[in-house]
Amino acid sequence: MSKDILANIAVINNRINNTCTRYGRNPDDIKLLLATKTVPAARIKIALAAGYTLIAENKVQELKEKHEMLREIPHTNHFIGHLQTNKIKDLLKHDVSCIQSLDRLDLAEKLHQRLQFENKTMDVLIQVNTSFEESKFGVSPDKAIDLVKQVARLDTLTIKGLMTIGMLSAEGEKVRKCFRLLRDIRQQVARLQIEGVYMQELSMGMSGDLEIAIAEGATIIRVGTAIFGERPTPDSYYWNECN
Ligand SMILES: *Cc1c(COP(=O)(O)O)cnc(C)c1O
Repeated sequence: MSKDILANIAVINNRINNTCTRYGRNPDDIKLLLATKTVPAARIKIALAAGYTLIAENKVQELKEKHEMLREIPHTNHFIGHLQTNKIKDLLKHDVSCIQSLDRLDLAEKLHQRLQFENKTMDVLIQVNTSFEESKFGVSPDKAIDLVKQVARLDTLTIKGLMTIGMLSAEGEKVRKCFRLLRDIRQQVARLQIEGVYMQELSMGMSGDLEIAIAEGATIIRVGTAIFGERPTPDSYYWNECN
């Protein structure tokens, strides 16, 4: 059981390296984040012990349950799911260092209030809905820059870049369009030189489309299925409001 996870990670590393060679990128510039939704702590531990220590959950409840069990192994927690404002307080108890799914001002403001109260700060990525699918979260691309400007005023939050989920399509060009749009938005934001806004991270690419994402400039790829296997719950449970 531990072998499959490590073998799968080796395959992912090969895919990263081959893609980097092909597109003239440095593999050191790409962070592999393990998307651990539905994966039991015992299996996550195998990856952590092998040195793959950047992990992320989609739900505060799962974060809470597993954080207790993963505590003893040093690791970095990001959050990549839809965050309800009534879960902010809970999320902040579990050592999350970056929320990649910040997609609306009211969430940013409530997060800011709570962080101020706790005398803490938080890195965030702005999640953009580059596929224009209603079933996906994320600020719409035409409103992304305004959201960046507004969030930049909240001094407990540091914007480190952008995140997106590409269109789930077998047509590579449709997926590529999503990633290219995210990269374009990053460039537009970077040009504005907003104080306290850093645009170094582009979190995009998953099990099925990481090559396209790397070709388009990803700095963080988020991989679940290709490492831990198929999930029992459909992604709609994590990606839609209706649950
Ligand atoms: C589940 C999930 C992933 C990983 O997807 P896989 O296709 O299993 O690699 C990446 N990003 C987000 C936001 C996710 O919810």
